[in-house]
Amino acid sequence: MKICPNCNAQLNDNDAFCQNCGTQMAPNQAPNQQYQPPVQPMVDPFDHTAEFDAKDISDNKVFCMLIYLMGIIGVIIALIASNKSDYVAFHVRQGLKFTVVEILVWIIAALTFWLLFLPIIAAVIISGILSVVKIICFFQICYGQAKEPYILRGLKFLK
Ligand SMILES: [Zn+2]
Repeated sequence: MKICPNCNAQLNDNDAFCQNCGTQMAPNQAPNQQYQPPVQPMVDPFDHTAEFDAKDISDNKVFCMLIYLMGIIGVIIALIASNKSDYVAFHVRQGLKFTVVEILVWIIAALTFWLLFLPIIAAVIISGILSVVKIICFFQICYGQAKEPYILRGLKFLK
């Protein structure tokens, strides 16, 4: 649909003249022009960085780092030091996820002690993997990011 510049009548896109007043229409621009969808940046559904204020991030980075360095103690320090920050709150939730998973792993290891060393070895390996993921989270905070930790993404609680 296009509009006549002279009388504002509505015309078909391929009309060469206005059917109302006869004004000649400008030729259609580039008939072979193809519709190009707007370029979308890669969206990571687990990256919540854009939801936080840049000042909030820069002011509270340090407390978020403590969460991944010191576990539950870091969570407590961060909550006391900066309980109004959304950025800290996000990382507190991620830190609690780590803590819950670690506790569960060791409870399962304790309950399955009759399998001898296997559960303990498994728990040590899982704790090691979690530590690596925490280090990754730590460095993401250095860049002011807020991403859900890789292996904890399946956990829908504390989102
Ligand atoms: Zn017209």
